[in-house]
Amino acid sequence: MTTTYPDTQLFIAGQWRGARDGRSIEVQNPATGEAIGRLAYAGRDDLDAALEAAEAGFEVWSRTGALERSQVMRRAAALLRERADAIAPMMTMEQGKPLAEARGEVLSGADIIEWFAEEARRTYGQIIPARAPGVLQMAVKLPVGPVAAFTPWNFPINQVVRKLSAAIAAGCSIIVKAPEETPAAPAALIRAFADAGLPSGAVNLVFGSPAEISDYLIAHPTIRKISFTGSTPVGKHLAALAGRHMKRATMELGGHAPAIVCADANIDKAVSLLAASKFRNAGQVCISPTRFLVEDGVFDRFLQGFTQAARAIKVGNGLDEASRMGPLANERRIPALEGMIADAVERGAKLETGGNRIGNQGHFFEPTVLSNVPVEARIMNEEPFGPVAVVNRFATLGEAITEANRLPYGLAAYAFAGSAASVEAIGSRVEAGMTTINHMGLALPEVPFGGVRDSGYGTEGGSEAIEAYLVTRFVTQTSA
Ligand code: NAD
Repeated sequence: MTTTYPDTQLFIAGQWRGARDGRSIEVQNPATGEAIGRLAYAGRDDLDAALEAAEAGFEVWSRTGALERSQVMRRAAALLRERADAIAPMMTMEQGKPLAEARGEVLSGADIIEWFAEEARRTYGQIIPARAPGVLQMAVKLPVGPVAAFTPWNFPINQVVRKLSAAIAAGCSIIVKAPEETPAAPAALIRAFADAGLPSGAVNLVFGSPAEISDYLIAHPTIRKISFTGSTPVGKHLAALAGRHMKRATMELGGHAPAIVCADANIDKAVSLLAASKFRNAGQVCISPTRFLVEDGVFDRFLQGFTQAARAIKVGNGLDEASRMGPLANERRIPALEGMIADAVERGAKLETGGNRIGNQGHFFEPTVLSNVPVEARIMNEEPFGPVAVVNRFATLGEAITEANRLPYGLAAYAFAGSAASVEAIGSRVEAGMTTINHMGLALPEVPFGGVRDSGYGTEGGSEAIEAYLVTRFVTQTSA
């Protein structure tokens, strides 16, 4: 395994290069706090070059046949798979997640590219029966135009690949503003597309000041569509900007996922699947289960099992094969989590396990379980985005569903229940973009991925995902 970490450059008009003004910033390893590389930091000149490239790339790529687009994408998927063992350690070094999770993310990125490569060949329009003989009425689906995509650091490849693959499959060009904290893995993804034969300018990669870049690109007339993944406040700001400039937008924002556990559920299965899901990527997952709502009769058993599972997790440097949970990606999450935990305990919650930073090197935090947390506590209302679970009890399923729907978020929901009536009630009444009951079935390439309410709009998976990158144009014609 190589553990060297590269410097990352911008990719503009088919060239890997530094910023025009030579500016670069440091990249840190969250497991050690050490600087591991540098990152080119784009200025206005670089953004202008990327916009020009995206315009030229769109001209070429939007006229490239669907079969060829699909073939280029399949080659990109194959290259990504071939390179997985080299990319995974870079991702672990910049983001912190265990190597196995990093490798899994690279490989699932290849699956996502292949799914969209297939969709590239199915952007069907419609022939609409005409009222008059000899008239042909066609609704055609065409690529929307150059796209700007903004992605976060928690899944350096996965967050980019959904937007990139859908845009490229549709025939759009794209400027990706990938995360400054974790630049090397997304750059490796872009490299796979470039090496697969995408024409110059079809894909461009920039890093820099997120707010300056989004302000500039969203307002720019070249850009026709934006896609953002990140927090709800930033998403609302960018959606407002998009509205002001009449740009289409997809918003994949924060969540505060409920996990309902009914007394007639398979409790052992619920404990093991939910604990694995909660602490994956140190809880820095938009669909991470956070509010565990457990029926009275099984509350103690679930809490005990879940707390034991949390205590058993080996936390350490993700490059160490034994580690099951790495550090938090950003140091700022440590005081944020400590504040939320202290607030919950002050308000009467019980700290079952964890609650503290581990050591003084890197941003490690203990897997944490709080129980009996009052609804007024901050952690019941704000997304913790870390390895903290809240376990509360409920008496009736109606009460649990009301609590699940109490917050304005609506991204993911989890449930374990035995009776068909409970399964049906949860599936139909919990307001979430994605609900998984009695198993973990979210985020596959072929199923919808997205939220409702404050968790955003649009889907980044399944057959609808490519629609976000297409416009419908109507053409009606008859002979002269
Ligand atoms: P943050 O709100 O500062 O940033 C979130 C992401 O948005 C980052 O990638 C950041 O670079 C980007 N961003 C911030 N301002 C931007 C702007 N004006 N234009 C374009 N991009 C901008 O939060 P953070 O401390 O980095 O992360 C913690 C919070 O972010 C969490 O509470 C969570 O809600 C959210 N988050 C969500 C996801 C997700 O998968 N939905 C991923 C990462 C972070």
